Amino acid sequence: MTEEKKVIEIGPDKPAPLHLPPGSIIWRWTEEMKGGGGLVIVMPCHEDQIIVTDHDTTDATAVCLFCHNTYDLTILDENDGGYGARFVVAHRQFILSLKTGKPRKRAPK
Ligand SMILES: [Zn+2]
Repeated sequence: MTEEKKVIEIGPDKPAPLHLPPGSIIWRWTEEMKGGGGLVIVMPCHEDQIIVTDHDTTDATAVCLFCHNTYDLTILDENDGGYGARFVVAHRQFILSLKTGKPRKRAPK
């Protein structure tokens, strides 16, 4: 019998461990983008990774390009002029596209 890791919730001022079980919640503050027009949010797993989003986005899948951790991200209007970010650990499989030198033909039917 394997021991499952316990789902935890981490506040916005606390560092988050790199490996958390799915469903774990990490809260982060957001910053207004310089010059306005969007939000900057630091990734929970790597503080040198950020995401930038507009004010209209409320739900998205966030992927850390460094470690490939995936999160269900919810951006919450705190009604005080600021926004909070809730990351829920997803461990979702994904495949990123790659740029090719020239367009490729589809496989024949
Ligand atoms: Zn990461």
